Amino acid sequence: MRVEAHQLRVSRFAFSSGFFVWLFALALSGLPTVQVQAQVKGRDYVDLSVVASRLGMKSYWLAGYKTYRLKSRWTTIDVDKNAKSIQINRVPVYLGFPTREWKGRLLITKADYDHVLLPILVPQVFGPSPGLKRIVLDAGHGGRDIGASNPAYGLKEKELTLDVSRRLKKLLENAGFEVVMTRDSDVYIPLTQRPKMANRANGDLFLSIHFNAAGSASAVGFESFALTPQFQASSKFSKPSWRDNTAWKGNEQDPWNTLVSYHIQRSLVQRLGGPDRGLKRARFLVLKHLDCPGVLVELGFVSHPSTAQKLRAAAFRQTLAQSLFEGIVGYGDRLRRIR
Ligand SMILES: [Zn+2]
Repeated sequence: MRVEAHQLRVSRFAFSSGFFVWLFALALSGLPTVQVQAQVKGRDYVDLSVVASRLGMKSYWLAGYKTYRLKSRWTTIDVDKNAKSIQINRVPVYLGFPTREWKGRLLITKADYDHVLLPILVPQVFGPSPGLKRIVLDAGHGGRDIGASNPAYGLKEKELTLDVSRRLKKLLENAGFEVVMTRDSDVYIPLTQRPKMANRANGDLFLSIHFNAAGSASAVGFESFALTPQFQASSKFSKPSWRDNTAWKGNEQDPWNTLVSYHIQRSLVQRLGGPDRGLKRARFLVLKHLDCPGVLVELGFVSHPSTAQKLRAAAFRQTLAQSLFEGIVGYGDRLRRIR
């Protein structure tokens, strides 16, 4: 009996010291940990009801059991079954992997918890936030590289990107930011040079501005791209391949890439209404080699007739610049609140 009592004391001690070690580790890591609920094909999944309570949110199925909602005072997240994107405050945000239903519960991958939910909802867990003073604006294309075009409306992507960049530069400088442009005239600059210029300039944020074109005249809307995290497929692919195993320099900024892209996409939605093609992932050359957070925006399809008509108007291009400006300011406010 004495031995058992002794053992009991020992195990209590082990339990309580283990508990404090855990608390200490949590404080050190800072990451709200969630228990992995299931493994499918070697991939870890977490239960969204557990995620919600871990993040201090309510969660419930909406009528019809197709959509699961996580809700706090500020944030509403809607998640569908087997979905490749979720809605965060009505902005579509692409996941690395589809959601899964499991025993009446809805699961997302641990990777998406780490790369999508935490950066947007609780970015402070990723440690000291970057500064936001010097912004590098990258007007896409230029010179012999015209980019997308719509001759019927007299539109060239290289001219639109430069026009919006110049308007945005003025707005940012008036608000006290420093602005560096990768080009401020109609010159050709190779893609590889653009992130190098941002790194040399010691930029705090890299924003690459583009417009889309599609074979079909019906393609419409705007989208923002953050660099795809390691081991994930970019949004246009259905599953990862060995090529996705590389960690690029830009991946060191993963949480901030996600956060700034979300703020910019949300700001575009708020100003323009839609159609909102969402926050997507791609390994664009200009994003892979950055030392600072970066985002690439596609501000609309020049091939879409009514978009093309709008883009001819300086007032509309000013609205685009204003939306980007407000997105950057929103991101800056968020960084300041968590510093
Ligand atoms: Zn482009």
